[in-house]
Amino acid sequence: MFQFDNSYARLPDRFFASVYPEPVEGPKLLKFNEELAGELGIEADFSDPARLAAILAGNVVPPGAEPIAMAYAGHQFGNFVPQLGDGRAILLGEVVDRNGRRRDIQLKGAGPTPFSRRGDGRAALGPVLREYIVSEAFAALGLPATRALAAVATGEPVRRERMEQGAVFVRVAASHVRVGTFQFFAARGDNEGVKTLADYVIERHYPELKTAENPYSSLLRAVAFRQADLIARWMGVGFIHGVMNTDNMTISGETIDFGPCAFLDEYNPMKVFSSIDQAGRYAYRNQPGIGQWNIARLAECLLPLLDEDQDRAVDAANAVLKEFGERFQSEWLGVFARKIGLLSEVEGDGELIQTLLAAMHEGEADFTLAFRRLADAAEGRDEAFLACFAAPEKALAWLGAWRERLAGEARSGEERAAAMRAVNPAVIPRNHRVEEALSAANYNDFSFFERLLEALENPYEERPEFADLMVPPKPEERVSMTFCGT
Ligand code: AMP
Ligand code: MG
Repeated sequence: MFQFDNSYARLPDRFFASVYPEPVEGPKLLKFNEELAGELGIEADFSDPARLAAILAGNVVPPGAEPIAMAYAGHQFGNFVPQLGDGRAILLGEVVDRNGRRRDIQLKGAGPTPFSRRGDGRAALGPVLREYIVSEAFAALGLPATRALAAVATGEPVRRERMEQGAVFVRVAASHVRVGTFQFFAARGDNEGVKTLADYVIERHYPELKTAENPYSSLLRAVAFRQADLIARWMGVGFIHGVMNTDNMTISGETIDFGPCAFLDEYNPMKVFSSIDQAGRYAYRNQPGIGQWNIARLAECLLPLLDEDQDRAVDAANAVLKEFGERFQSEWLGVFARKIGLLSEVEGDGELIQTLLAAMHEGEADFTLAFRRLADAAEGRDEAFLACFAAPEKALAWLGAWRERLAGEARSGEERAAAMRAVNPAVIPRNHRVEEALSAANYNDFSFFERLLEALENPYEERPEFADLMVPPKPEERVSMTFCGT
């Protein structure tokens, strides 16, 4: 089924533990991503659904797979844990896709590993479907993220706060190397391990850096830039990751681990959804600062490779951290300038955007809908935009300033509106809709899960049949808290 070529399994033994998935009672395929399977060159045998489910649940290990649990460490909410590792995820192997890109095929929830600590190695149905929905929404939005190949029910219960149905999530990633993977070796004083890993990720993700003057400082900068760009784009769709621990930040620049993540409803920069984030460490507006903090942790791991002279190594790391801030600022400005329909960037645009955001905050405007309706205003229809605000005065004043700024750009209202609709989604996985899909699925009704996925395939289109999925939650529908629910 898979044409495996497993580069990570060829790394030294201390990088992982070889471990087979633990077979489950009754594997049943809930969802299979045929389009992605095609991209990966996977030949799935649909005439034998039982075998397909058995493979994707880990009951049958397909030829060529070399199942491993990867070792990693990580800062969780700022506290360093020297050993985390794949406690319930097993990397089956890697395939090279139709575009020549190497991708990991991982089974999440496939049973215990040497890194499981007190965990059961399993995943519950709800979180599996949430990860499925949000990863595929990200792909359709055009944001880098790991992908969903399949969701499989295990036919076994898992004990969480209450008993739930178990499931396995089949995740596809550019790789699963994280900031925390570097920390695993650095924390052990294993500089050789750090170097081997750095060389590995340069080869796999940044081959153009092999010939750089210092490939390792170039690597640090490249990872920092990809993360700065990624976080700017999260901000642009109102996304709150929720657990930006260093073990949940990839080296590839893909978003990973959709646990207690959420999308903003009404705009509030201080917004936190995760029940475990009491201090608001990972609040919406803190994300760029945390991204930089995580890159600082990566920089510490790479110090011995940056320069033989320790002071010069620290200077090089600090320079990159400063560049992270600049890069984020400029990406953020670009993202939001496009959201408000600007072609060029001029002095004062940042302020114009901030004034809008302040009005949205004060007016409790729905983040997604307000930007989407601003496209109507670009065509001269202001009502729906203004209706997003509790009181219209500030929004009305802002429209005046916006139009003054737009006067300096040669583009018709229609063209501008079309460009804005191409970057301001109409359909996002709204928290209350995701919850609705998960609740129904817990009663074995997958119809809303399927419908939501279908709507999310074309997030920039307003299709009348999905009108209900575009509207913000009513007060009683609002989800105020999300749970890791691992
Ligand atoms: P996460 O919150 O999914 O990023 O996971 C953080 C760490 O906890 C990782 O090392 C996971 O492998 C581990 N973990 C989470 N849930 C479980 C579980 N049910 N069984 C074993 N390990 C787990
Ligand atoms: Mg994780």
